[in-house]
Amino acid sequence: MSEEFDLVVIGGGSGGVRAARMAAGFGAKVAVVEEYRFGGTCVIRGCVPKKLFVYASRFPDLFDVAPSFGWQVDAKFDWPTLLANKDKEIARLENIYEKLLDGSGVTLFHDRATITGPNTVALKSGETLKAGHILVATGGAPFKPSIEGAELGITSNEAFHLETLPKTILIEGGGYIAVEFATIFSGLGVDTTLVYRGDRILRGFDPDVREGLEDALRERGVRLRYGYHISKLEKEGEGVCVNFSHDEQACFDAVMFATGRHPNTSGLGLESAGVERDQTGAIVVDAYSRSSCPSIYAVGDVTGRAALTPVAIREGAAFAQTVFNNTPTRVPYDLIPTAVFSEPEIGTAGLSEDLAAERFRSIDVYIARFRPMMNTMSERPDKMMFKLITETATGRVLGCHILGPGAGEMIQLVAIPMGMNATKADFDRTIAIHPTAAEELVTLKLPTYRVVDGEKVTV
Ligand code: NDP
Repeated sequence: MSEEFDLVVIGGGSGGVRAARMAAGFGAKVAVVEEYRFGGTCVIRGCVPKKLFVYASRFPDLFDVAPSFGWQVDAKFDWPTLLANKDKEIARLENIYEKLLDGSGVTLFHDRATITGPNTVALKSGETLKAGHILVATGGAPFKPSIEGAELGITSNEAFHLETLPKTILIEGGGYIAVEFATIFSGLGVDTTLVYRGDRILRGFDPDVREGLEDALRERGVRLRYGYHISKLEKEGEGVCVNFSHDEQACFDAVMFATGRHPNTSGLGLESAGVERDQTGAIVVDAYSRSSCPSIYAVGDVTGRAALTPVAIREGAAFAQTVFNNTPTRVPYDLIPTAVFSEPEIGTAGLSEDLAAERFRSIDVYIARFRPMMNTMSERPDKMMFKLITETATGRVLGCHILGPGAGEMIQLVAIPMGMNATKADFDRTIAIHPTAAEELVTLKLPTYRVVDGEKVTV
């Protein structure tokens, strides 16, 4: 049997769902094929359950300061309760995704899709779909280094479903997922060690943010081992013994790889339509998300561009505008604000100090570090940091980096004036809100230092 559609979307994640709903809204006959659960990585096993775990892991910090505010707390944590409530919430969101698609008139297939030509998709169940256009939005999956015993290690996929909370865990990696899960597990009382092959976590982020988070993780008892990698895993009773690159050995209840994610393109039949992929397997697309086969487009993590849900959503929307609303639309990639839900949280928008100093002859750097008010009435030493980087010549704000409570929420708002090319004078004109942490953004007086031709100078 074969059905005909204007658009067949492969993958029911954030990017695919947005594209499908918008295309249907523009009058297209649309199908979405999803082999697992609607919602994709972000909803099912990424941003959403992660943030719920992050919330759970932050309670001990509140209990810590509670006595200073007159509260005595005798708290106990129950992992199965967290898992069950998280699963319930994810099922609720998944249901909403399905309903939204359904309500937009999109036909849903719970099936595995394979491309069999520029305009045909075969379903595992035997059906063939004919498509004016095909959109590949299959996302990515965690990658494990190919070492002996790698199958004994978990990834973020499994971390959301562990039957029991380990007492000790080793996490390999220094990116978003590694530091977020180090925060989660240590917050929940797990003895946590992080190994990273580089010299400091969060390569590519602003140096002060990296250093600040590193100090805070150590302060929270997370052991950080740099210049290390795992070379072999072996089963040891209920746990796993690890051989490190430096000939050292240690055993843990669980080992988690947070060593990046790879695009989901294998077994998709892309070669049958001549769709080009790069060396990582990602689909090569142009500025309008079009692949080397004119009827096939791709959005989201499968393209290897910025692997962030809101970016995939924008790419899905731009695709629908371009192909089904006669409005060619590009996604701007020059200012992508982002948050890392570590503890303390990170919010970052624009250039790091290194990149700003590389691209501009002279930059001014403003830094404020202080203990958030919540901590000042307790013994907690944690500090927060605000950093603004401006171009000396024009005062334009080139980068903003925040470390501390609410950083993710704050940076979303800072990104708006930054996208409008706001200057430091524009920030300064804004009246502060007191007492907040964010008031620092509009009360930073003199630059902490200037960087001219790559050299730090005092101002
Ligand atoms: P990242 O690319 O951020 O980090 C991967 C880490 O693994 C890096 O530190 C990398 O080292 C290391 N690594 C890679 N290969 C190996 C290897 N063979 N052996 C040892 N270490 C290795 O990936 P994540 O998995 O953390 O996250 C994937 C993406 O998901 C992120 O880039 C981000 O876009 C998105 N994400 C966003 C979140 C958010 O918005 N809050 C949260 C979680 C994920 P090196 O630095 O040397 O390359």
